[in-house]
Amino acid sequence: MTPADLAFDQQHIWHPYTSMSQPLPVYPVVAASGCELQLDDGRMLVDGMSSWWAAIHGYNHPRLNQAMKAQIDNMSHVMFGGITHPPAVELCRKLVAMTPAPLECVFLADSGSVAVEVAMKMALQYWHAKGQPRQRFLTFRNGYHGDTFGAMSVCDPDNSMHSLWQGYLPEHLFAPAPQCGFGDEWNEMDIVPFARLMAAHREEIAAVILEPVVQGAGGMRFYHPEWLRRLRRMCDREGILLIADEIATGFGRTGELFACDHAGISPDIMCLGKALTGGTMTLSATLATRHVAETISNGEAGCFMHGPTFMGNPLACAVASESLALLAEGDWQQQVQAIERQLQAGLLPLTASENVADVRVLGAIGVVETLRPVNMAALQRFFVEQGVWIRPFGRLIYLMPPYIISPEQLNKLIMAVAQAVKNPEFFR
Ligand SMILES: *Cc1c(COP(=O)(O)O)cnc(C)c1O
Repeated sequence: MTPADLAFDQQHIWHPYTSMSQPLPVYPVVAASGCELQLDDGRMLVDGMSSWWAAIHGYNHPRLNQAMKAQIDNMSHVMFGGITHPPAVELCRKLVAMTPAPLECVFLADSGSVAVEVAMKMALQYWHAKGQPRQRFLTFRNGYHGDTFGAMSVCDPDNSMHSLWQGYLPEHLFAPAPQCGFGDEWNEMDIVPFARLMAAHREEIAAVILEPVVQGAGGMRFYHPEWLRRLRRMCDREGILLIADEIATGFGRTGELFACDHAGISPDIMCLGKALTGGTMTLSATLATRHVAETISNGEAGCFMHGPTFMGNPLACAVASESLALLAEGDWQQQVQAIERQLQAGLLPLTASENVADVRVLGAIGVVETLRPVNMAALQRFFVEQGVWIRPFGRLIYLMPPYIISPEQLNKLIMAVAQAVKNPEFFR
């Protein structure tokens, strides 16, 4: 890419959460394969991000590429209204089989945020159909569920600047984030504020929505799976629906296929996205129980009121199906365990550093929480100079590499983080 291309980018193209008046630098990537991104000057960067949880099998995977090429020659897309096609049926069959048994009915959409919109709309329509309209959602602080308005309304109110949308965004119920960490001893007191909030609003709450076990973009926090068992019981007792947003955690990232599996529970509605297509195309799925689906369908509307133009996109379904086949055939469990051990060995000692507040590791996720916010531009430049792609935010430097990463490549990522936290210049 020429300097003019980069100047055009800065002038005209928005990137995620960036300013158009003072844009941070962007790095031109021209190719990616395995666990490496190639910059246009030829430098190779070891990828520590899996392109935001997505590229679990690495980049340019021959089987994923082949699945897309084969599907292109049949049809890239066809509408889903009144039509079905083999890639959608094959994918949904796999999703129904691999998710907890009560989840039977699949709604395919374009992105994670839309999957969350769909889940929330399902919950609203469910209560409407029962003749007892309910419109509030109960969730944790520090959550992240996407950037569309419905999803945003259940994101952490401070992180997602609810103050900006006051009067526009529906006001939902926020319980304190779980304090009991993943490996901690279960503390009964942890659940008290949540239980109180639920009790106080039991007649209004349509659903509890949460990210099971791992709170992702809202703070990279790992909490005790007992929370999920307790919430499942509390929701059952009150007849409140439970929505699990597994968009980040799904497909093995936390060491179990789904984070709900850590607790052995099934939600009433589950959202999937990100790694669904192995990081190749945008696609999401919202799965619901037969009971939820039938209640909605027997209601006043007579149907579920949603139908995206690109619903069930065959190209995305074909590659998602192949990605799930790779998971089923492969040894992701051993890979994730090996990554977990190496992250523990490499990152946990950084707790001793004076710039570090906390270090935590779960499955193929390693998080170094710093005391002060990182200087993004400087730290990003440093990482690129070290030959790694790590994208910190706020006070979080985290690694979630593709499952196929080699010990040498992972070591390079860990070493870069260890170097970075030593240098006070990278923190504001
Ligand atoms: C990324 C994410 C979303 C939003 O997905 P998009 O594809 O970015 O719209 C929703 N929920 C969770 C937990 C996520 O990590």
